[in-house]
Amino acid sequence: MRVFKFGGASVKDVTGLENVVSVLRHTGAKDLVIVVSAMGKTTNALEQVVDTYFENSNSTLLTTALEVVRNYHFQIIDQVSLDKKQALFGKIEAFFAEIEAFLTNNQSSDYDQVYDQLVPYGELLSSTILQAVLEQQDFAAQWLDIRTILKTDSNFREAKVNWKLTEKNFKEHINSGGLYLTQGFIGSYKPSLTTTLGREGSDYTAAIIGYCLSAESVTIWKDVPGVLNADPRYFENATLLSAISYNEAIELAFYGASVIHPKTLQPLQQKGIPLYVKPFLNPAAAGTCISERDTIEPYSPCFILKRNEVLIKLSSLDFSFMLEEHLGEVFSLMAEYRVKVDLIQHSAISFSLCVDDKFNTVTKMLCALQNRFKIQVIYGVNLYTIRHFTPEALVKIEVDKEVLVKQVAGNMAQLVVK
Ligand code: ASP
Ligand code: MG
Repeated sequence: MRVFKFGGASVKDVTGLENVVSVLRHTGAKDLVIVVSAMGKTTNALEQVVDTYFENSNSTLLTTALEVVRNYHFQIIDQVSLDKKQALFGKIEAFFAEIEAFLTNNQSSDYDQVYDQLVPYGELLSSTILQAVLEQQDFAAQWLDIRTILKTDSNFREAKVNWKLTEKNFKEHINSGGLYLTQGFIGSYKPSLTTTLGREGSDYTAAIIGYCLSAESVTIWKDVPGVLNADPRYFENATLLSAISYNEAIELAFYGASVIHPKTLQPLQQKGIPLYVKPFLNPAAAGTCISERDTIEPYSPCFILKRNEVLIKLSSLDFSFMLEEHLGEVFSLMAEYRVKVDLIQHSAISFSLCVDDKFNTVTKMLCALQNRFKIQVIYGVNLYTIRHFTPEALVKIEVDKEVLVKQVAGNMAQLVVK
């Protein structure tokens, strides 16, 4: 089997949907599982629905937030030519009816749990629409509700996969030769609670499926030529990397390279399954191949920017040394508040951390620390990571910026700048 993943940007409009068809014409559609994300910015729009649900007792605002999602999908369906459009409208309406029923009947006040019952509709909608489009073009894909297959724990919004059960389920549901279409990002806990694997988790889903089926390859189709040595939105002259080792790709993803979800690579590496990143506008292009090999090709510095991080400097209140017990305390609070650390710098009397405030919990965590440490905090800093750095590459970043922390280790340099 092969696994293809199409992200939100590649199915954001009718052109995108038709483009999936062109890709399949080029690659063939046998022995294939297609994983699709929510269309365009639907996940953000659904997050807005969840926030509105929790923040307001005013039902008009909630209706309006949901209308945004509804109108977007209906507009797309309106524009595609389908013989069985009414049947598709019916399926889409049914999903919205489920959402409305949930909003009316829900008893849970657990934000993360409620989030996971609502936000996954983005993927359910996109996969249902894509299936209709494929069918119209004579690609009869079997639509799978991945929630019946991909089983997780109940760690809502960042659920962990139950690998044994998931693998067994995939093997039962997928037969060689077939064409299947399913959702990225989502899974389920027990029979009836939907879970999600974390934002941008659809790549990870593709890898999970690849692993469970011992697939021949996993391909992520993107709106870029492949993996570049820098994000072209923030860096000039980004160049395509034609090949990357698993380890290098894991490092790049870990430090925030946005092309690949960090968790995606490990399951593939374990089974030696190559991961291709290819441009959906040019399916014949080679793109990038990530596999077991040495570092990167062509060998060049890789630049990664993580924006809007928080720089925290902790020192002991009485000028005593920062000892292991202090660090232990800080790290257990980080784990408790789900704060992700991207850089650590340690000296005798202070301890600096550059963190990702992914769940908006840093301020709360700092409150918990304020009686124990002297705290300096700067919000909104940028973290640059350069792998395989050269002196010229470093200068390029440092110029015209205020460098707050600089760390050079081995072939990697990190800069926290304001
Ligand atoms: N739709 C989800 C998100 O936007 C998952 C994904 O796109 O990978 O986070
Ligand atoms: Mg998305």
